Amino acid sequence: MRFMDPDANDHPKEACGLYGVYGSPDVVPLIYRGLFAQQHRGQEGGGIVVSDGERVQSVKGTGLITDVFAKREARELSGTLGIGHVRYSTSGSTRPQNLQPLVARMIDGIWAVAHNGNLVNAEKLRRSYEESGAIFQTGTDSEVLIHLLADPRFRQGSPRVAGALAELSGAYSLLLMTKDCVMAARDPWGFRPLSIGRIGDAYVFASETCAFSVTGATHERDLEPGELVIVDKNGLRSHTIPGPPVARKAHCVFEQVYFARPDSTVFGRNVHLVRVELGERLAEEHAVEADIVCPMPDSGNSAALGYSQKSGIPLNFGFIRNHYVGRTFIMPVQDERSASADMKLSIMPEVVRGRRVVVVDDSLVRGTTMKRRVIDLRGAGAKEVHVRISCPPIAHPCFYGIDFPTREELLAARGDVSAICDFIEADSLGYLSEDGLLAPFENRGDYCTACFTGDYRVDPSGATGKLSMETDRLLFNLSAEA
Ligand code: SF4
Repeated sequence: MRFMDPDANDHPKEACGLYGVYGSPDVVPLIYRGLFAQQHRGQEGGGIVVSDGERVQSVKGTGLITDVFAKREARELSGTLGIGHVRYSTSGSTRPQNLQPLVARMIDGIWAVAHNGNLVNAEKLRRSYEESGAIFQTGTDSEVLIHLLADPRFRQGSPRVAGALAELSGAYSLLLMTKDCVMAARDPWGFRPLSIGRIGDAYVFASETCAFSVTGATHERDLEPGELVIVDKNGLRSHTIPGPPVARKAHCVFEQVYFARPDSTVFGRNVHLVRVELGERLAEEHAVEADIVCPMPDSGNSAALGYSQKSGIPLNFGFIRNHYVGRTFIMPVQDERSASADMKLSIMPEVVRGRRVVVVDDSLVRGTTMKRRVIDLRGAGAKEVHVRISCPPIAHPCFYGIDFPTREELLAARGDVSAICDFIEADSLGYLSEDGLLAPFENRGDYCTACFTGDYRVDPSGATGKLSMETDRLLFNLSAEA
């Protein structure tokens, strides 16, 4: 059994976070706080576009949202409507041109687009526009939407954006904006979350409801899969994105397992409570005699609590996390991820010495960080180390906005549970079953589980990889062919 990528950490990587407001006297502080609350969804960079009804202003930058808003131009923004975005690159490189919201001037004014998810037909659409002479500025899948919005074939529909959205396939939760209107849309499969809230008379939109609590918003409801919402001076109107009905929804179950913040309500369920239940089911499926249950902080905290409650084995903190080092998965450069993973956790020998330890984490992607932690635990005096994972083995790539795109990267694609247990040098290893994973959900058939099962609900054959639309790669290919 061969394992690659020895320095990578053990978590999949996402994604992006969205926050938008219509109808507040000063939307800038709200968008700042809304994005700040969703920083865990992307730390590469962020941006904000606002309008006072006439003038549209935009500021984008790399780094944390605090870095972006430290810019003088950001402090000078003001407006009554606006949208914002935090980015982790799941399509395109980390270069600043790929930051969102994307902004473009069209025949009917300025449009801004903020996107969470990955489109599986973006490259096909892009090639077709390029063949007819269009020029693309970014390496992201999201830019095709700018061209669709500008396309005369799709400008005539009612509502204006419906025809353009109907061309998209794959995962998209979107915020769009003109100088006097905010729109929100969610793909017909409902891959990524997107919710509507209210602050007084203002409407707000966010990827996660944790962004509502910090901005004083009440959570009204989630956008329905396939819904397009338009808010302007006439109020809020809801439309259905045209297209054939979708047989099976595909909410990303990984939002519940790992990505979303525990205090968010995602797809109608509180994330923390779902994770506690997953931990309880994990304890039922993979019981073991042990002295303490240790969460892998912070992602394993809630599941470890559930495991402890169900098993009766006391919870204790064998790992201490340094909160001044970011969540390592979100760092896109491998060396930075590796260094960060080493810096972020310390072991407390006083807690683990002489004890049989159950380590609970939410997922294993490559397994290399877990292997280091198991070795460290033994070095600190743990008598036995049993690893428990609150989801099934991830053996298939995701094409819908999560950054573990190749099968070669995935530990579970290259060996069975026993081989993985040997690799991470644990005394035992137990993964939650697919049944256990879906048990907390009433509508369990509406969840995507493709990374466990290979059952892709939207044909991913058109998805060509994270960097396939990067201009420099294209130029390289052209010069190689010349
Ligand atoms: S393949 Fe996995 S990570 Fe991707 S959308 Fe489906 S459940 Fe989520």
